[in-house]
Amino acid sequence: MNNNVSTDTNGRNAGVTLKGISLSFGRTRVLKGIDLKINSGEFFAFLGPSGCGKTTLIRLIAGFESAQAGEVRIGNQEISHLPPWSRNVGMVFQNYALWPHMTVRRNVAFGLEEKRVPRNEINERVNAALELVGLSDLADRRPSQLSGGQQQRVALARTIVIEPQVLLLDEPLSNLDAKLRIQMRRELRQLQRKLSLTTIFVTHDQEEANSTADRIAVMNDGIVQQVGSPMDLYDRPANLFVAGFLGVANVVEGTVTLQEGKALFRSTDSAVAVPIGESSAGASHIVFRPQNMTIHSSDVEALPGMLRLVGRVNHREFLGSVVRYRVAVGEHFLLVDASYQRGVEPIAEGTPVTLSLKKEQIIALEQ
Ligand code: ATP
Repeated sequence: MNNNVSTDTNGRNAGVTLKGISLSFGRTRVLKGIDLKINSGEFFAFLGPSGCGKTTLIRLIAGFESAQAGEVRIGNQEISHLPPWSRNVGMVFQNYALWPHMTVRRNVAFGLEEKRVPRNEINERVNAALELVGLSDLADRRPSQLSGGQQQRVALARTIVIEPQVLLLDEPLSNLDAKLRIQMRRELRQLQRKLSLTTIFVTHDQEEANSTADRIAVMNDGIVQQVGSPMDLYDRPANLFVAGFLGVANVVEGTVTLQEGKALFRSTDSAVAVPIGESSAGASHIVFRPQNMTIHSSDVEALPGMLRLVGRVNHREFLGSVVRYRVAVGEHFLLVDASYQRGVEPIAEGTPVTLSLKKEQIIALEQ
């Protein structure tokens, strides 16, 4: 094992600290003052749209990029100036980068051979890594004789076998078909838990991040927008970008008026008027999710604690488990999800409808 970097208290994993990281390629500023602390043993995702800088950031941790400002720490040690081979991190690339002419076993052993680890130790560690990823029976095949999921497991075994303090994964599931992605993300999570290995995962797929990560840093335009657990980010987005990027959201713009000590949010066309907490008196937008509304084809009274909006179904889409309605309310089009029940005909386009929404499901944002 490489001893260039000190380990954390558990002797193997280490947290990662990024402090004031700024990086430009020529005149393009790609990372703009990133501060993050990833805990030892945590499964952490960098999530954001294409071009937001997440790959650059993970490559920086691996040592393939260098920043103009800021520092990278693994455990207690600053590693910003160490080359990739002196950092005890393992990286799995998007395309796996396996050696095509080597067997699975040789691919996995390669890193240990380079470090001149004794042969019997190599055999033991390679066997253990192959068993961990369920590939013991395919050890003598070449990568071209494996499925995408199996190649991905070889790439993981090859990285894990060097016992890195931090595992870095750059969109590791993007080459797999939809079904295999779901299976592999579950396997990846189980493996990470078994090893309690600090893992940083880059993805632009919110479902992938939500289903695997302990915490997520949502990035946009070289800036970390918010850090939190998947549910925290979904329930309490810090801004409109996070609200819109994590899941489907209805966003309504408007202003707040204070009446008799109560705050009332009113959309620009007044079609949506809802009371909000006084602490949100500076709100310029409200956000609520399609599944938090109920749609009625008849005119229903507002129930206690519920808000009532009236509109007309503009469009509907059958999505399998739900029917998604696009409802015109004043100048706004609001999305409403209703669970689909076999044999129950969804509400037709053009039907006048009443929408109800629980007050506590409204997120008020200042921006
Ligand atoms: P994707 O999901 O598409 O991979 P990303 O969030 O990982 O996107 P990066 O690959 O980190 O984004 O790229 C961030 C920005 O930096 C992009 O605008 C990209 O064009 C630019 N960039 C990346 N590498 C270089 C380079 N070597 N030289 C110049 N510009 C680069």
